[in-house]
Amino acid sequence: MKINWDVIVVGGGPAGLFAAWEIAKAGKSVLLCERKREMGVPVRCAEACGEEDINKYLPVEKRWVAARTDSFIIVLPNGKEIKLSNEKYSGFILNRDLFEYDMAAKASELGTKIMMKANVIDLIHNDDGSAKGVKVDENGTINEYYASVVIAADGVESRIARKMGIDTTLKAKDIEPCVQVTASNVNLKENALYIYIGTNYAPGGYAWAFPKANNCANIGLGINGKYASTEKYSKEYLDEFLATYYPHVSVQKYITGGVPVSLTLKTLCKENMLIAGDAGRMVNPLNGGGICHAIDSGVLAGKAAIEACDDPLKIEKIFKKYEKEIYKIIGKRHESQYKIKDVVYQMNDEDYNNIGDEILKISEDKRSFFRIFSQVVKHKPEFLIDVVKAFTGI
Ligand SMILES: Cc1cc2nc3c(=O)[nH]c(=O)nc-3n(C[C@H](O)[C@H](O)[C@H](O)COP(=O)(O)OP(=O)(O)OC[C@H]3O[C@@H](n4cnc5c(N)ncnc54)[C@H](O)[C@@H]3O)c2cc1C
Repeated sequence: MKINWDVIVVGGGPAGLFAAWEIAKAGKSVLLCERKREMGVPVRCAEACGEEDINKYLPVEKRWVAARTDSFIIVLPNGKEIKLSNEKYSGFILNRDLFEYDMAAKASELGTKIMMKANVIDLIHNDDGSAKGVKVDENGTINEYYASVVIAADGVESRIARKMGIDTTLKAKDIEPCVQVTASNVNLKENALYIYIGTNYAPGGYAWAFPKANNCANIGLGINGKYASTEKYSKEYLDEFLATYYPHVSVQKYITGGVPVSLTLKTLCKENMLIAGDAGRMVNPLNGGGICHAIDSGVLAGKAAIEACDDPLKIEKIFKKYEKEIYKIIGKRHESQYKIKDVVYQMNDEDYNNIGDEILKISEDKRSFFRIFSQVVKHKPEFLIDVVKAFTGI
């Protein structure tokens, strides 16, 4: 096995796979280390995605699409449903296991060496503090691999950035422990993303049911870490939720996972290391969606790594440009979403129900997230004050 690479990518989720694919396309040598035993499995995700999020890089393949969705249905605590349908709300549910499997195959066809069951346990440092390479535990044998650039795409539990001295700690309120089942015999009425709000099911978060093929769906919930306690685990919330809304389903699969709902890290590079995806906290803190930003940041990290390999003396400037680009397309927007999240999740069930009743008075074709926001403000003017406070910090 070759030990000197242009780039080593740690993690084979969407961020790492798109980074490796981009780098291999440019003819650079790239090693991707993934600690799992099977690419794409287990899927710790509800798999909702916008078609354009992938299409802008490569055509979405038929087998990646588990179901198409054309609307959102927000279910209030009192059970009433608000439907939002408009082409802006169309998207699809991925077969993420197949998507990642195929992306790994595409990256490897272009020259990426992919190693499974390759747990990166440490960075090897040069005297100046930069990364010389990585130490990898391969079935109990520790091997070393070296590279000019290391990309940390190791997800929410990221350790690699910390090994470089970057603080990636998450406060309890900035992480959502999630639990999800993939169930059959679900019988959703429509091809919609069902979102359930209410403090009963998911305090500080929400529950979801997203359709998949063959009458199956991903049904899950995330509660804000601040409400997580050993008195009631997320699984108990989910069991109650299923008993209320989906008593007839059969569970095919359980998964758990954490979603970072924090601000994006300000520091996304140090020396010759870049951070992409969840490792850099790039999830939308309001809705918990992170696939598209993992892909975008993976591609941008890949491009920055290529540039740095071609012009190593300018590495600092090139990597700072990456940091700025991510702030512009992801981090800046997340600052406002983060503030709105803080306010929205303080509302109680009565607020949600009352606001919902007002929204239901608007005809379906005129409903939009903006009009929902207007109704929230009309019903609860102090909400606007909270939002203004949140934005201005007063
Ligand atoms: C329950 C749940 C539901 C979600 N639903 C949605 C949704 O519907 N839509 C959406 O857009 N987003 C959703 N998300 C968020 C989305 O899954 C993430 O934002 C996305 O996976 C981030 O991609 P990534 O490549 O950064 O990280 P990951 O997908 O987490 O990939 C990181 C990879 O790194 C590997 N790794 C970690 N450490 C090491 C190591 N030391 N050595 C080698 N390999 C390592 C891991 O095994 C993993 O494969 C959901 C998340 C959860 C938990």
